[in-house]
Amino acid sequence: MTRIGVLALQGDVEEHIAALRRAGGDPFEVRNCADLAQADALVIPGGESTTVMKLLTRSALDRPIVERVHAGMPLWGTCMGMIVAARDVAGLEQSTLDLIDITVRRNAFGRQNESVEVELPIPALGEPPFRAIFIRAPWIERYGPKVERLAERNGRGVMVREGSVLATSFHPELSDDLRVHRYFLQMIVDSQAGKAPTAA
Ligand code: GLN
Repeated sequence: MTRIGVLALQGDVEEHIAALRRAGGDPFEVRNCADLAQADALVIPGGESTTVMKLLTRSALDRPIVERVHAGMPLWGTCMGMIVAARDVAGLEQSTLDLIDITVRRNAFGRQNESVEVELPIPALGEPPFRAIFIRAPWIERYGPKVERLAERNGRGVMVREGSVLATSFHPELSDDLRVHRYFLQMIVDSQAGKAPTAA
């Protein structure tokens, strides 16, 4: 079974572990480099992006994650994880891992949207629309040429993929719907079969 690491420095780790298990994966917590070495794929959950970037540097996990992703390890960032994986953050000098060629804006949907659930059409997942939960969510302001746009909310990008890197600004681990988790599991299977291009 595919061993999926969930970065467990801060954030909603338990919810992702439970959802990945229900979707048929073999998830476990990643806190250090030895854990990372056991992982076939990595999820960076929701949380607080500046805190997690500091903890990634302190635990010396930042470079090894970048190296593994460049070598083809599938990665999925949700909300804070999308910010950490992005190339850069609009209007802020915030360091990131630069794993997917997008510019994100933090807390972008406004104060009235601190937490909201919307019916989000995601053509790659088919019908019905996905009940997507957004919590102080980022949106995507710039897409690199190789980035596939999988979903938009109010004309703003909220789900993208580039090679083996997936990013969602909402929280599929908080819904009962497992389709995004299954989509990521399929990405892992495809990458192991050599079908997916690796992220540049
Ligand atoms: N607002 C958080 C940040 O900018 C992300 C929120 C989340 O992950 N739910 O880091």
